[in-house]
Amino acid sequence: MTASEPAEVEAEAEADVVVVGYGPVGQATAILLARRGWRVTVLERWPRPYPMPRAVSFDGESARILAAAGVGPAMTEFGEPSRDYTWRNAAGDVLLHVDVPERGRSGWPDSTSMYQPALEEALAERGSRLPGLRVLRGHRVVALAERDGHVELTAVLDGSPPDRTRRLRARWVVGCDGANSFVRTSLGVETTDFAYFNDWLTCDVVLREPAVHRPNNLQICDPARPRTAVSAGPGHRRWEFMRLPGEPAEEFGRTESAWRLLGLFGLHPGNATLERHAVYTFQARYVDRWRVGRVLLAGDAAHLMPPFAGQGMCSGFRDAANLSWKLDLVLAGTAPAELLDTYTLERRAHVQHAIGMSMDLGRVICETDPAAARDRDEVMIAVRARGLREDRAQSAVEPLTAGFLRGGAAARGGGPQRPPQPSRPGRPGPPSVPVGDLVPQGRVRVGDRTGLFDEFVEPGFVLLATWPAGGHLHLRPETDAAFALLGGRLVNVVPATGEEPPAVAAGSADASARITVVDVDDVYLRYLALAGADAVLVRPDFYLFGRVPAAAPPAADTRAGGPAVQRSDSVEELVGDLLAALGAPIPVGKH
Ligand SMILES: Cc1cc2nc3c(=O)[nH]c(=O)nc-3n(C[C@H](O)[C@H](O)[C@H](O)COP(=O)(O)OP(=O)(O)OC[C@H]3O[C@@H](n4cnc5c(N)ncnc54)[C@H](O)[C@@H]3O)c2cc1C
Repeated sequence: MTASEPAEVEAEAEADVVVVGYGPVGQATAILLARRGWRVTVLERWPRPYPMPRAVSFDGESARILAAAGVGPAMTEFGEPSRDYTWRNAAGDVLLHVDVPERGRSGWPDSTSMYQPALEEALAERGSRLPGLRVLRGHRVVALAERDGHVELTAVLDGSPPDRTRRLRARWVVGCDGANSFVRTSLGVETTDFAYFNDWLTCDVVLREPAVHRPNNLQICDPARPRTAVSAGPGHRRWEFMRLPGEPAEEFGRTESAWRLLGLFGLHPGNATLERHAVYTFQARYVDRWRVGRVLLAGDAAHLMPPFAGQGMCSGFRDAANLSWKLDLVLAGTAPAELLDTYTLERRAHVQHAIGMSMDLGRVICETDPAAARDRDEVMIAVRARGLREDRAQSAVEPLTAGFLRGGAAARGGGPQRPPQPSRPGRPGPPSVPVGDLVPQGRVRVGDRTGLFDEFVEPGFVLLATWPAGGHLHLRPETDAAFALLGGRLVNVVPATGEEPPAVAAGSADASARITVVDVDDVYLRYLALAGADAVLVRPDFYLFGRVPAAAPPAADTRAGGPAVQRSDSVEELVGDLLAALGAPIPVGKH
């Protein structure tokens, strides 16, 4: 795990976690850990933030994660809803059109176009307000080694005198150091590489006069030159051009070729300023192990994919969300280190899907054979004409089917998600929501305030239940205390059309935080119905851990106490299964 051995001048006290790299994924990871109270030190190679954008959009789940990291209020400064995405062929016929809802499954736009330097600035500003987070710029990590339950790192300091170094000790290290990750190399992990290589010239352009772009995001599937024109956040636009087979690479990257190609969109130095241009070689690969001992990988350090599905950075944000709550529990001693093995399992499955989807889209977009392109166009135009495809974006994530889920795997209701099935009156219908599903976010009302669920209920383990009017959710005191120790919250969801509940119902004898929310948009009650559940237990990264099957209607329930008691038993078991899966120190049993 060692590179060169420069002269050493400083040794440092320890951090709970050292994050290597302060790109967007390192930022999200560091913030999500520091806001849980851990001492996090970031080592970043460059003395100043990288001023140029790479990514131009993120999805709704990423927006929810970013909001959890604390930059929700700044979202309109660095981003704007993407609105639409259209593919056309060389003749201008529409091959595919997607309308992007402004309020998607995660409560945020399904796609937000953003200016990456502004996003990073917002995250850096948020990070600077967290007392436990220390960012050391101009620190290039050159060595790391695990010793005595710690990881020792050496960083070369930028500037003079040369070879000045700093040594740090951390309980855990997360390598977020990008595509050429030193941390990944030093771990020696295997990589699955799809040998996918495609060169695209990326041009970030500022127009002299403001213009309205319809569609806002356009893919031109022209076999003579596949190309793209998209929003790159408020006030910014990006144009991209594929290098054709046999086209010389050096010439392709020159400023003259950038202007020549921008001319395809009517752009020239008279009406536009070329802020920068760069050729990127898109690749597709992921590491087989995301954890080796006390060192973990996240973001581009762990996976690369062509950007056709806009999922590279988003996958990194999912890494950050998945890893941070698990590392939090391990650091706190609430869960064993083995919990972190589910990080590999869960994130690898998601990333495999996102990579496959990105490569599939790339194959269709990057077609340069005119005959094959004609066939493609015919099929896509016919599919559109017959209404065989909805104008909705396909999700880049599938429900988790293995990992930290009730029962270890989504044995009950696992597999691909089926379309919503209406329940039959009087009998709960078959659940169409598998364990491992990404739980939606809707607006709720608490007292006289309406907002997104996360504004009222901080991300953590959340037991979402619908309880009979006047009823109360009873957990045994020890279960309740253990759930509270995890920061668990019990949320009672009531319909918008019922009697107004008290603003916040805090159970006096209970340890867990309790809150009653009005389901303003019928997101949660509908979800519980689809899940065939009276209650669902949601993980801090918004994935479904497990559910309490809906109780039989009162007429069929012969047990003393009726459905309320039966529900309490089942909720007890669900929370008990969570605590058991974590190896929680407080014993939990069934009644
Ligand atoms: C043209 C293009 C378009 C894209 N579009 C999208 C999109 O629309 N949506 C999307 O989700 N993704 C997109 N992506 C992918 C996205 O840009 C990346 O996935 C994302 O930026 C990766 O973030 P990261 O934090 O993992 O890595 P990086 O942003 O590469 O950050 C790594 C950091 O680690 C630091 N570092 C490296 N080595 C060391 C070391 N030894 N010591 C200390 N620090 C170190 C680096 O200086 C850097 O700051 C696109 C990519 C490209 C190229």
